[in-house]
Parts: sequence; structure tokens; C-alpha cells
Amino acid sequence: MGIGMEKSEENVAPTRAASLNRPPPEVIEVDDTRIACDGGRGALGHPRVFLEIGKGNFIDCPYCDRRFKLRDGANHHS
Ligand SMILES: [Zn+2]
Repeated sequence: MGIGMEKSEENVAPTRAASLNRPPPEVIEVDDTRIACDGGRGALGHPRVFLEIGKGNFIDCPYCDRRFKLRDGANHHS
């Protein structure tokens, strides 16, 4: 699988998570710019939404704040 929480080279300031005292969101590496998220499990579950990675090679799910990051070498749309 492609869960890589140890990778945090993009140390951008968190937006939503900062003010809500949440644990850090997961970072999930994906191979495609179009992904779907349903929260995965437990209290963070939510209706499935489709997200598309644009600028920055990552996108944060607006529901559960998980970050989907485009894997190195994935198919970029140039
Ligand atoms: Zn989500």
C-alpha cells in the first residue's frame, strides 16, 4: 500500500487542522490525480467524494483533512 506518514518534506502550514486541535491528518500517496475519499474508517467516515489533484501535487479532503499526495513518477498532466 502507499501510506507514507513519514514523508513530510512539504512542511506547509496546516489550515483547518491547526485551529481545531486535531491530530495531524494522514498523508496518502496516490498514483492518479483523480481520487475518491470516504474517510476510511471510524469517526472520520463521510460520504464518498471525488477529488482531483491540481497544483502542488496534493489535495486535502475537505471532509476528513486527509492529504492525498501524488506519488513521485506518477502520471502528471502537463
Ligand atoms: Zn475524506
